[in-house]
Amino acid sequence: MQTSVIGFPRIGTLRELKFASEKYFKKEIEADELLQIAKELRKTHWQTQKEAGIDYISSNDFSFYDMVLDTAVLLGIIPRRYRELNLSEMDTYYAMARGYQGTSGDVKALAMKKWFNTNYHYIVPEIEDDTVVKLTGNKLWNEYTEAKSLGVETKPVVIGAYTMLKLCRYTGKKSAADYLDAIINAYAELIEKCEEYEITWLQFDEPALVQDMEQKDVELFHKIYETILPCAKQCHILLQTYFGDVRNIYADLIKMPFAGIGLDFIEGKETFALIEKHGFPQDKLLFAGLVNGKNIWKNHYEKTLEKIGALRGKGIQVVLSTSCSLLHVPYTLAHEGKLSQEYLSYFAFAEEKLIELKELSVLVDRKDYTSETAYQSNQKLFCTNRNCDNVEVKNRLSHVTENDYVRLPERSVRQNLQKKTLGLPAFPTTTIGSFPQTKDVKANRSAFRKGEISEQEYVDFNKKKIAECITWQEEIGLDVLVHGEYERNDMVEYFGEALGGFLFTEKAWVQSYGTRCVKPPIIWGDVYRQKPITVEWSAYAQSLTSKIMKGMLTGPVTILNWSFPREDISIKESISQIALAIRDEVLDLEANGIKIIQIDEAALREKLPLRKTDWFKEYLDFAIPAFRLTHSGVKPETQIHTHMCYSEFTDIIPAIDDMDADVITFEASRSDLQILDSLRMHSFETEVGPGVYDIHSPRVPSVEEIVNALNIMLTKIDKDKLWVNPDCGLKTRAMPETDASLRNMVEAASVIRNRFC
Ligand code: GLN
Ligand code: ZN
Repeated sequence: MQTSVIGFPRIGTLRELKFASEKYFKKEIEADELLQIAKELRKTHWQTQKEAGIDYISSNDFSFYDMVLDTAVLLGIIPRRYRELNLSEMDTYYAMARGYQGTSGDVKALAMKKWFNTNYHYIVPEIEDDTVVKLTGNKLWNEYTEAKSLGVETKPVVIGAYTMLKLCRYTGKKSAADYLDAIINAYAELIEKCEEYEITWLQFDEPALVQDMEQKDVELFHKIYETILPCAKQCHILLQTYFGDVRNIYADLIKMPFAGIGLDFIEGKETFALIEKHGFPQDKLLFAGLVNGKNIWKNHYEKTLEKIGALRGKGIQVVLSTSCSLLHVPYTLAHEGKLSQEYLSYFAFAEEKLIELKELSVLVDRKDYTSETAYQSNQKLFCTNRNCDNVEVKNRLSHVTENDYVRLPERSVRQNLQKKTLGLPAFPTTTIGSFPQTKDVKANRSAFRKGEISEQEYVDFNKKKIAECITWQEEIGLDVLVHGEYERNDMVEYFGEALGGFLFTEKAWVQSYGTRCVKPPIIWGDVYRQKPITVEWSAYAQSLTSKIMKGMLTGPVTILNWSFPREDISIKESISQIALAIRDEVLDLEANGIKIIQIDEAALREKLPLRKTDWFKEYLDFAIPAFRLTHSGVKPETQIHTHMCYSEFTDIIPAIDDMDADVITFEASRSDLQILDSLRMHSFETEVGPGVYDIHSPRVPSVEEIVNALNIMLTKIDKDKLWVNPDCGLKTRAMPETDASLRNMVEAASVIRNRFC
């Protein structure tokens, strides 16, 4: 049986692309050197897959920043303000991705959004009224040729026209319909060009098909593909879907002249049933996504082989595939020296998934695979007890009652009380928690991890940083201070390391956006808090200032969403366990004099099911109560904040209000402000701090710009409910721009106060 990989991680086994790109941004290397490093990486990635015996290897899955941005560039979708900078092709690309501030001009980055239900973020392409959509780029063919010259025949992959139309933002008067013909022409030309290059397989990624589709969407899909598919003569078109099932269009898809259809059997709850019901044509290849591209647990061969057997039993030609791009898992287990072999034996990262694909493909062709070693050792793993249960945790959870999910008194009463007791000015200023993780901060952590300095030295250094940043915040004039999170590498990994039940890796990085990678912990067993985690840092910070110090925690939903979850218990059970652990920390912070506690739910939106019908019963119905469980035990005077990245919760506003936090800060500067109208419409009770400037870019916002943003906000939000803050943590920024931006922000708040108070 043949095997296919939808896409491979591109950042490099040790994040080489990240480091090279960052050097380029800092002008430490020239474009040529960056291009060379990228080329080497692609070569390694192709050869690794080829050596593993993968039959359908992707090209053009490489990206310097993001594959949606790449596709936009391929189609000539570059907004005027970036073109007018007159930068090189590469720098125009980066200006769209990261913003640009320099001798050629000053523009913000394009908006960034979460890629379906993952923690990967894509750049939102913007189509203006005068944008001419046409095939312009060459990346796809260059990379195909590059692979070919290395002796690797690849299937180039590109985001499909339907998904592209859905992801673009239309900033002028025109809408998607006005660009349909141009997009269709561009894709038709793309196929023709692939014909010229004698490309045998071309993969169109159409993940938007797993979302709810209305009749008009189905018609749109037909219109696109009925026009472009006839352009394919020798070139086989693979329609690749992932992150769910395609229930609204499956019956149509199988009748269309695709040479192959890729379906997700992991997240696609109905995929198998759809095949049972409608069949699958024998003249097409079914790229069966049976090896999980998102999670790191080994594949259970017995189950997978059964499924393949069932599909083949129907006469279907199966190509074994990953369920989505391997972009979402770390690169290799090879660098994990600290975890025991016993633990490691349960995991498969991208490289190991290649082995799984190969082993499975060999096994399935054997008469009696049960006697094969690969099968037996896999079977053994799944038959033995993994040693991950904790009776106390299970007991505690079983004693949680309905009352534990309710904070009293009701929020409006608390808010009045807090106004009196906290004594904050109108439009209080604050930050989201972290301050720049400068070289010295990282060096301190790394020295401690390597055992080069003692724990005392490590702690002393961080305390010095805390003291410095408090003086600095006082000097800038911020109202609610933070301790800066210097002791944290990543907001989830930090808690993962401190809580019982988690495992953490050394080099298991996964790309989050651009050059930013995260290292998600692995939830191995039942989760509990071993001892206080943040209390000492926060209490120390509070002891240095008379201003209010905000305690800083990560919420249960985010901890779960940014970890690799267990597959043997439900997400609901895992989240509830984590919520109890965080609850202990919240109560300890309060007992130690912390009056404001922020419980970040940066990733709350992330696992919201892609289909609306599943939103509540499969997610919000337990995720929101889990958040309440963390803070329902505090005194009325204690102010609970939460923070969410991205304001993409317009459609779940009542659920967000139902978290029953006193204040929420969220990202707003990169997205449209429609969210504010919706908050008003839903009589949102929680106080709000929509971010007044974008922290994902090094650009410094002017006072005027922030005042303007605040003025707009004040047309939608009551003045006694508005907070002033950046849109996310500042850890990825450098000090000079942070200092300048925060000073401007504080000044803007005072301008507004003078006007309104
Ligand atoms: N408190 C975290 C920080 O400031 C929040 C980060 C996030 O929302 N991603 O870094
Ligand atoms: Zn954030």
